[in-house]
Amino acid sequence: MYRIVKTKAVVLKKINYGDTSIIASLYSENLGRISAILKGARKSKTKQGFIIDPINLVEIVLYNKMNREVQLISSSDLLSNYSNIKEDIEKLKYAYATIELIQNLTVEGEKDLRLFKGLVKIFELFNTSNEFPGVIFCRFFFFFIKELGYQFSLKKCTVCGKEDISNEDYIFNFETGLLCPNCKKDYLSTVEINQELFNFFACLRSNKKIINNVEKLSSKAVYFMETYLKYHINTFKGLKSIKLIS
Ligand SMILES: [Zn+2]
Repeated sequence: MYRIVKTKAVVLKKINYGDTSIIASLYSENLGRISAILKGARKSKTKQGFIIDPINLVEIVLYNKMNREVQLISSSDLLSNYSNIKEDIEKLKYAYATIELIQNLTVEGEKDLRLFKGLVKIFELFNTSNEFPGVIFCRFFFFFIKELGYQFSLKKCTVCGKEDISNEDYIFNFETGLLCPNCKKDYLSTVEINQELFNFFACLRSNKKIINNVEKLSSKAVYFMETYLKYHINTFKGLKSIKLIS
C-alpha cells in the first residue's frame, strides 16, 4: 500500500540512476529528509530533470510507501531556483554547506517543520540579502545546532551564572559551556573565546546586522561551531564545501 503525498521540498543532491533516471535526496516539508527516484528524468525533452536540481525549492507529488528506501516521484513543479545563489560563488559555497548539514545530520524520514522553514528562509536570504553569505550561514548553523538539541550559550558562566562577559578571560568548555575566569580553573580541556567572537554571537542571537570584519569573524564562528559539533557528534567530520570552494 502506498499513499499519494504532495509536499514542498528542497533538493539536496541528485545522482544519475540507470540509463535515464535520477535519484534525489530531498528535505521535504511533510516527510523530512527522503530519497526519491524520478524515472525517465534524463530523457530529452523532459523538464523534470532540471527541476529536480540541488538548491531548488520544488513541489512534488510522491507515491509514498513506508519502509521503502526510495520513494517514487510522479510529478514536480519548480517554486524557486534561487538564481542569485547559483551566480555567486560565495553564496553557492555556503548554500552547499547548509545542504551538507541537513544531509549528514538529520534523520531520514523524520519530519521537522521548523527546520524545513528555517532552510527555506536561509536560502531566501542567500538569494536576496546583501549581507555576507558567511554570516547568513552562521545564523543557520547556530539555529541548526539548537534544533539538534546541542544549544550552547555564550551569555553567562554555566557554573556560577556570572554575566559580565566584557572580560576577555572567559573560556569555553565543549562539555560544560561558558566558564568565567574564576570557575575555569576546575576544568581541563577548553577553548579561548575572544571578545570579537562573543560580540559576533551576541549579534547572531539578537538578529543584529554585523558590519565589520564579516569574513574573518564568520569563518572563526563557523570553525567554532564545527569543532563544537564534532565534539558532540563523532560521526560528523566537518564541512567539506567550505574548504573545497575557497
Ligand atoms: Zn563562573
